[in-house]
Amino acid sequence: MTLPNMHDAEAIPEAARAEIDRLLRSGDLFRYTAPQDAPVALLEREFAALMGSRYALAVSSCSAALFLSLKALDLPRGARVLIPGFTFAAVPSSVVHADCIPVLCEVGENYRIDMDDFAARLPGCQAVIVSHMRGHTSDMDAILALCDAQGVPVIEDAAHSLGTTWHGQKIGTLGRVGCFSFQSYKLVNAGEGGILITDDAELVARAVILSGAYEHTWRKHVAGGDAALEAAFARWQNKLPLYNLRLSNLAAAVIRPQLDEVARRVRDGRRNHDHVAAQLNRSPWMHVPEKLAPEDRAPDSLQFNLDGMSDADVLAFVDAAAARGVKVQVFGLSTDNARAFWNWQFLPETQDLPRTRAMLMRACDTRLPARLTPAECDAVATVLLDAAEEVMGPLRAYGT
Ligand SMILES: *Cc1c(COP(=O)(O)O)cnc(C)c1O
Repeated sequence: MTLPNMHDAEAIPEAARAEIDRLLRSGDLFRYTAPQDAPVALLEREFAALMGSRYALAVSSCSAALFLSLKALDLPRGARVLIPGFTFAAVPSSVVHADCIPVLCEVGENYRIDMDDFAARLPGCQAVIVSHMRGHTSDMDAILALCDAQGVPVIEDAAHSLGTTWHGQKIGTLGRVGCFSFQSYKLVNAGEGGILITDDAELVARAVILSGAYEHTWRKHVAGGDAALEAAFARWQNKLPLYNLRLSNLAAAVIRPQLDEVARRVRDGRRNHDHVAAQLNRSPWMHVPEKLAPEDRAPDSLQFNLDGMSDADVLAFVDAAAARGVKVQVFGLSTDNARAFWNWQFLPETQDLPRTRAMLMRACDTRLPARLTPAECDAVATVLLDAAEEVMGPLRAYGT
């Protein structure tokens, strides 16, 4: 079995082509030119309907959505914002961008927030960003209970969680605001782009203006008879800076037909992930942590931990997998990895997180696109099993 291409994105649905042609012919690329129903506005309506949320605001990236969420919460300069110590560098960056101070908490071997450490660090924080890193959902029941009790708003970084549910409820709709990415490595690919969703009229009105709805362009965000939203816009007119983080109509035209593909990509991604995970879990050297019970995942990549290996073994395993054609990254051992917190040297305050550090030194990351067939997934699993065996010696029968 030859290995599949693990890196390329899926083709954009053909349906995008006619709309892109129309936009190229008219030159109508700016979301606020058309009197109504611009592609970006339609995307917002469709995405809000897909998620079952009242409001959606499409912007230039998930990082922009996180930044705007913090600004829309009207946090004072220097406010402390609790985030997990395992996430992408863009997350603490969005906090710094919003003139706030990231406070990191520990993440366990299962890639989820360590709830004891979270509870210990929460007092004194004025907001929380729960980054569902690589689509792994932390204990949202415990997080929301703690934050509600202390009146701390929760922003969900759901960049990698489109299609994931928690007790059947869509990730991104549990906190005050949810942020998604349309960057190419996410479930829906526009190259760049992001969107935030919320039920909070005041918050979305502020975010819309901050995102660059100058003068009265915010009217194009009011879909008939939403008095609370109109009042909020009127209240904030001319009171907020315009950061201009808007999305272009071209990006919306690329995104909209992909929304119909989400359910299939979620289903196939989950099938592929669970198929490979079951095989890796038979090895004494590899371990895919269990999801939490209320979570149904939507993975397009695979994370697993290496057990009983030295640093040298781990690096030899990465080389052996690469020689067989599968690229694996160990978050903490690949040079300058943007997901290793010690590389975030721009942070105003540093913290050591020994548990998170230990996890990152053994946690492997490999792409596993939804478009792979089960046979192709078998080939990937075989490479990983063979690479571990090459480094650690042949598997012995245990327990006999
Ligand atoms: C990709 C990603 C981001 C950043 O998204 P952009 O749209 O590239 O800004 C933030 N958080 C997580 C968990 C991500 O995976």
